[in-house]
Amino acid sequence: MDDQGMTSEPPAVDAGDLAVGEECREYLAEVHQFLDGELGAERRTVVQIHLERCRPCLGAYDFEAELRVVVSTSCKEKELPQGLRDRIASLLREVADDL
Ligand SMILES: [Zn+2]
Repeated sequence: MDDQGMTSEPPAVDAGDLAVGEECREYLAEVHQFLDGELGAERRTVVQIHLERCRPCLGAYDFEAELRVVVSTSCKEKELPQGLRDRIASLLREVADDL
């Protein structure tokens, strides 16, 4: 009665080894807050422990962390490559258009 019933939800796990479970989704949402320093000490520990054990989440965390470093250092440096500056400017314009 449970396998052939009306399951409206698609299978949660996609093909490939980057299968991110429900639990991970929650952690991934918290990675942003983690990096922003908005998580409480207890939550930070929980997220950190998960990151140590879960490769997909650690990968996402690393990517986010690196992105933040790149963004913050580019903002501090006055000499941005012109191409990058143009890209950021047009991205900002796009975002502003959406608002
Ligand atoms: Zn995970």
